[in-house]
Amino acid sequence: MAQRTALVTGASRGIGRACALALSAAGNRVILAARDAAKLEEVAAAIHEKGGEAHIAVLDLASLDSIPAAIAEAASKAGPVTILVNNAAITKDTLALRMKRADFEHVLQVNMTAAFVCIQQVLRFMSHERWGRIINIASVVAQAGNAGQANYIASKAGLIGLTKAIAHEMAGRNVTVNAVAPGFIETDMTSVLSAEVKERILSSIPLKRMGSAEEVAAAVRFLASEEAGYITGHVLNVNGGMYM
Ligand code: NAP
Repeated sequence: MAQRTALVTGASRGIGRACALALSAAGNRVILAARDAAKLEEVAAAIHEKGGEAHIAVLDLASLDSIPAAIAEAASKAGPVTILVNNAAITKDTLALRMKRADFEHVLQVNMTAAFVCIQQVLRFMSHERWGRIINIASVVAQAGNAGQANYIASKAGLIGLTKAIAHEMAGRNVTVNAVAPGFIETDMTSVLSAEVKERILSSIPLKRMGSAEEVAAAVRFLASEEAGYITGHVLNVNGGMYM
């Protein structure tokens, strides 16, 4: 089987890092994208150590106009992308009454609009190849809702809609588009929560524990595989039963 090139945004840590390692272990070349060059280099070194091929693309997804050139430059070294994992995201939580419009728009821009721009960069080649995998990392809260996260939840619900729209558009070209909706996963994003909030969330999870980044990456790796070729427009929950 031909070696493919996978681009993972937010690959400097957490779930994105785990996805990059898993996609590399599955035999793909990977492009690691995020803002922190030093952390990306560490992930690349971990992949090289295991005999894989990794390239880094330092980019700030908040700067939408810089995305096409950054992806094109990385693809000129790693080859055109046929697996895209839109994983990078931020939170700026507060109750809607207090949320500044700038913070609402900023979260939508990084979490959703940037994912759309990344998708646009890879569609032409996937279409030409008649093979592609796009995996958008959503969230359980896009399905269940949550207080204090109107911007984040709107962005993640938007990603699910985007997933289904592009799945329809690209199905005829053998490009599948799916979302993975993680629940409560142990990463930097959740390390900021208070013990009290963590306890409350844990009590609502049937499996009674947090998930790991590797457990989310395993779902991504599957959806990116040849075996998942008949799955498109799907939202795969990796949430310990938190939302069914
Ligand atoms: P994380 O540890 O906070 O990592 C976020 C990643 O996104 C980092 O690699 C960060 O890299 C990158 N990033 C943030 N802003 C960026 C920007 N402007 N430009 C480029 N890269 C940017 O988050 P995580 O927990 O691994 O979450 C990964 C995904 O899973 C996200 O989509 C998140 O919404 C989703 N998710 C997580 C959980 C959870 O419980 N952890 C639950 C549901 C969904 P740099 O800082 O180096 O740029």
